[in-house]
Amino acid sequence: MAERIRIGLVYPELLGTYGDRGNAEVLAWRAARHGLAAEVVAVPAGQPVPPWLDAYVLGGGEDAAQATAAGLLGSGDGDGLRRAADQGRVVLAICGAFQLLGRVYLDGRGWEIPGLGLLDLETTAGTPRLVGEVVTRSRDGELLTGFENHGGRSVLGPGVEPLGRVLRGGGNNAHDATEGARQGAMVGTYLHGPVLARNPALADLLLGKALERRGRQLGPLQSVGRDLAADLHLARLQAVLPRRGRLR
Ligand code: GLN
Repeated sequence: MAERIRIGLVYPELLGTYGDRGNAEVLAWRAARHGLAAEVVAVPAGQPVPPWLDAYVLGGGEDAAQATAAGLLGSGDGDGLRRAADQGRVVLAICGAFQLLGRVYLDGRGWEIPGLGLLDLETTAGTPRLVGEVVTRSRDGELLTGFENHGGRSVLGPGVEPLGRVLRGGGNNAHDATEGARQGAMVGTYLHGPVLARNPALADLLLGKALERRGRQLGPLQSVGRDLAADLHLARLQAVLPRRGRLR
């Protein structure tokens, strides 16, 4: 009987810009490629987030949708997500959701949106918007590719490390060359794509973390011919970097 992975897609109707919900599907697909049984569990806004899932995927959102999501996640409905994060369950938060993992987001309307305080960071809206292709290098030396579209500038505190260093694009704040954040099994990033479709190694890292909690290891990829995700990864990097490592 294949090991089962349950992947929560949290508030897709509020947090789902640029196809970010695809990250849950990609994680399930990649899990199956590693011989796991995977299911995506949608958690619509207004429903309490269950604490027992193995992974939680949250997408980006415009300021108003973020404020609504923050209100719900800040209420009892969000307890399950906080407990899951405290238990070291996988959380992948994209752009607006990444901002909500921090302490506060001061949005473009000047409203203070309280975050969940799960990550040591704060975000303030700025201009111009940071829009375009992004390439970063993770601490494991992996190149990550995606695109960004955000007004918020996030600043990491000493309690959290970046997901990567910016080689191309704005990243967290177009100032300190950091992109995203990583803490245990929690990953936040400004990279859309969906980011897991473009970066299969990141999907494997998250699956590995989900199994690690059970004292298990991620098995090898079961061969299904060409690795289309790896092809996409390479194609997106080559579109931006003339030769790996050098910017166009
Ligand atoms: N509303 C936030 C900002 O502009 C997040 C945008 C997004 O999630 N794409 O920074």
